[in-house]
Amino acid sequence: MYCPFCGHSETKVIDSRLAGEGRQIRRRRECLKCEERFTTFETAELLMPQVVKSDRAREPFDAQKLMHGMTKALEKRPVGTDLIEAAVNRICHHLRGLGEREVPSRLIGELVMEELRHLDEVAYVRFASVYRSFQDVDEFHEEIDKLRLGRGVQRDVGQLSFLDAGTGPVAGKK
Ligand SMILES: [Zn+2]
Repeated sequence: MYCPFCGHSETKVIDSRLAGEGRQIRRRRECLKCEERFTTFETAELLMPQVVKSDRAREPFDAQKLMHGMTKALEKRPVGTDLIEAAVNRICHHLRGLGEREVPSRLIGELVMEELRHLDEVAYVRFASVYRSFQDVDEFHEEIDKLRLGRGVQRDVGQLSFLDAGTGPVAGKK
């Protein structure tokens, strides 16, 4: 590649190491002419499946959107950005690993739920209410029941009481 400083066509690699948990190669390069140094990142380009929404419309998978959604669900929760990123990466990895051209949005919703369940229970419930368009109502209540059984009823009743009226927050609808 050309030197970004002088445009010379020859550079040498002076250091090369794995970055991004092994998904990237970071190379330190030096221009053979002006001797300026710069860094390049090499990442494998892997195709992500198309997302099939519940109305059968297709849209490209968008990791940024996923990151945004999870960050929103984890707003004001004690979970760092690095943990959210790692969760998004695991979801992407899983989706690529399927080798499918298309995946239902519901599957992505389930993967997100699974990650949130491990990261933070409150966020998990929040996400479940915001994104319940992924789920039908029965499935949603099953999720809540699982949560209740897992952690004991008393503590969760306060957090979940908004569900009883059947009107959670309906923000974030696409
Ligand atoms: Zn140069």
